[in-house]
Amino acid sequence: MKKNKYKNNNTEEKPEKTREETKKLQTEMGEKFGERTEELKKRTKELEETRRALINMLEDVEEARVKAEEERSKTQAIITNLADGLLVFNKDNILILANPQVENFFKIRAEKIIGKSTIELTKFLNFKSLMTILTNNYSNKIINKGIKEVFREEIIIKKNLILEVSTVPIVKEKEQLGMSIILHDISREKLIEQMKTEFVSLAAHQLRTPLSAIKWTLRMILDGDLGKITQEQEGFLQKTYQSNERMIGLINDLLNVTRIEEGRYLFKRVSANIEEIVKPIIKSYQTEMGRKKITFIFRKSTVILPKVEIDKEKIGLAIENFIDNALKYTFPGGRVTVALKYAKKEIEFSVKDTGIGIPNDQKDRIFTKFFRGANVIRMETEGSGLGLFITKNIIEAHGGRVWFESKEGEGSTFYFALPINRT
Ligand code: ADP
Repeated sequence: MKKNKYKNNNTEEKPEKTREETKKLQTEMGEKFGERTEELKKRTKELEETRRALINMLEDVEEARVKAEEERSKTQAIITNLADGLLVFNKDNILILANPQVENFFKIRAEKIIGKSTIELTKFLNFKSLMTILTNNYSNKIINKGIKEVFREEIIIKKNLILEVSTVPIVKEKEQLGMSIILHDISREKLIEQMKTEFVSLAAHQLRTPLSAIKWTLRMILDGDLGKITQEQEGFLQKTYQSNERMIGLINDLLNVTRIEEGRYLFKRVSANIEEIVKPIIKSYQTEMGRKKITFIFRKSTVILPKVEIDKEKIGLAIENFIDNALKYTFPGGRVTVALKYAKKEIEFSVKDTGIGIPNDQKDRIFTKFFRGANVIRMETEGSGLGLFITKNIIEAHGGRVWFESKEGEGSTFYFALPINRT
């Protein structure tokens, strides 16, 4: 009975407690469940947002891809339709691009040359001249397989096809990724240039004959061969004679230029001592130097100059052009120094003056045809702008080089150097 009582007591208390606990548990679970649901909702929302962001991103990527594709086809179209030939080499000197113009110029299919190195391309007959310019390799001797920088060098591919070659390095963040080569067709310009040269040559020849006739007639009158003339008449005739001489000089310059351009400027080389050529030229300018009150200095070589194989007349013309310019472009009272030096297997001739100098912005045009500085045109109206062009060609034909130093308002020094072994 006692036992039962206990038992009864227990069973009465327990449901109450259990109920309470169950309720508590339910409340707790309910709260937890609520929290979880909230959390799940939040996560779902976040996932939804992430999904939307991803879709947006994918759309952006797709848009960028389409844009890049468009850009690529645009670039491709530009390269394909470019009037110039375009070759691109990577940094390992392998050809990675050749546009249709290249195929057209060289009569070769792009797939035959793409993937080839500069050395392999040298073996293609059509490419030999181009690769020689680009790499400095001669015949079978490979000196350097890399591509050097080239600016406007001309190559004759065949009759009526002349190309101008220039290179442009492909650089990204200071690193060179390769080299592109631009081939510009200048055949038409060359043809026009040739026609112009032919015209100038013809006109100069036609003008020279009557000018020579005038010269000799004036000379006869001045020498009294045709009877006595008054002092006044002599004065006028002397001036006419000098003007005629200048015109003959100009015609001769023009003829020399046309001969240079047509490759007909011939050189008759003999063994000669440069000093012997310089001396009489200096002498012929003495009157002019005295008239302009120019202090003249001749610095001879301190060592005996070796003889050189030169065209005496043409080197004489080059020397004359330098001295003539120094006198023309130096104000009265100035100083002209002519010097001869022998160093490093070269004979160096220079003419230094204290004249008007050359403006910085015009220095790179000094040796070009018909160039006359803006400052000299105001000072000395006479001049053709052909003297230095002819001089440069004469010296370079002898394997030599010309250069100058100058400061506007202070003076200039013009140099040429002739190699001893190559002339
Ligand atoms: P030209 O003297 O007939 O004009 P050149 O070809 O001899 O032609 O010279 C070209 C130009 O170079 C000159 O017009 C002048 O502007 C410049 N030049 C040449 N020599 C000198 C010099 N010694 N001093 C200053 N300028 C010079």
